[in-house]
Amino acid sequence: MRSGKTLLIISIFTRVSVVLLLCALALLTEYHNLKVAYNNPRLVELSSGKTTRQLYEATDAFFSLFGEPGKMAQTNGGMTWSIRIMGIPFTDPVAALSVLAKDHRWGVGFALGLIVPLTLALLFGRVFCSYICLASLLFFSIARLRRLLEKFFYFPDISINRGFAWGVLFGGLGAAVWLGHGIWSLLLPYFAVGQTIFHGIAYGTLSVALGAIIVFSLLDLCLGKQFSCRYVCPTGRLLGFIGRKSYFSIRRDASQCLTSCQSCIDVCPMKVSPKMDETVDCSMCGECLVICPTNCLSIGKRITKK
Ligand code: SF4
Ligand code: SF4
Ligand code: SF4
Repeated sequence: MRSGKTLLIISIFTRVSVVLLLCALALLTEYHNLKVAYNNPRLVELSSGKTTRQLYEATDAFFSLFGEPGKMAQTNGGMTWSIRIMGIPFTDPVAALSVLAKDHRWGVGFALGLIVPLTLALLFGRVFCSYICLASLLFFSIARLRRLLEKFFYFPDISINRGFAWGVLFGGLGAAVWLGHGIWSLLLPYFAVGQTIFHGIAYGTLSVALGAIIVFSLLDLCLGKQFSCRYVCPTGRLLGFIGRKSYFSIRRDASQCLTSCQSCIDVCPMKVSPKMDETVDCSMCGECLVICPTNCLSIGKRITKK
């Protein structure tokens, strides 16, 4: 695959779809309340009117395609991967570690939910970051804002050890054992965004996770583009580790690469260097493919060095 623009369009489309799905799930809360209270379209109409009955029935029909609608509304709570689509469960890998650390066991459905995320990571590396994670849409926008503001103000570009995110992961696991799994809404950017959207729509309230979003946003704005993704987010670090030898990866045709150029390094939001044939932490966003003047970058089956 050489078309970076196609990848960028697909990645925006899939992430916007995730946001819309989460909004729909939040709206399901009202449906769930009606289901628990009445569990009958006629009673819903008597209590809340004909339009509510029609919405109730349409919701019933549509979301039954994805599993048990009321249960989805109850269990998702803004967690992108804790979801069931068309019968297939998805379990967040960090949530899985957290449950293991606190409860020392997994339910069968919960464990099976790891198959899709782990397979994706083993095939495509950190692809979750560019195609599913709704926080990356926010960070993508902040990176553009930072670039604009750089014309007027000085912003440092700080690099720290990427192992810092392992510390956040293990610290979070310890905190989860002590305080409960809710701590992740403050440590996982996409959970913080998802929970804030969910609380706003389902309950009309602000979530404490909004504070975490503000902190992550300031880190990105003041310290470097996608700073939170590169150095703080435990999921990104975990997926980068699992997918470090992914089946597919970014590839470079060295014979076409220009010695004087370093556009791919400058543009990469993850600070990966395709020019140096680095692949770990690449999220296959396609930005370097778009900018490469000689089209010598592509995504395909990993070339193993001899
Ligand atoms: S590093 Fe974390 S917050 Fe950033 S894009 Fe990946 S999963 Fe989302
Ligand atoms: S190397 Fe960087 S810019 Fe290129 S696809 Fe990977 S993450 Fe995107
Ligand atoms: S952008 Fe293309 S030509 Fe430039 S350094 Fe990267 S791979 Fe080489």
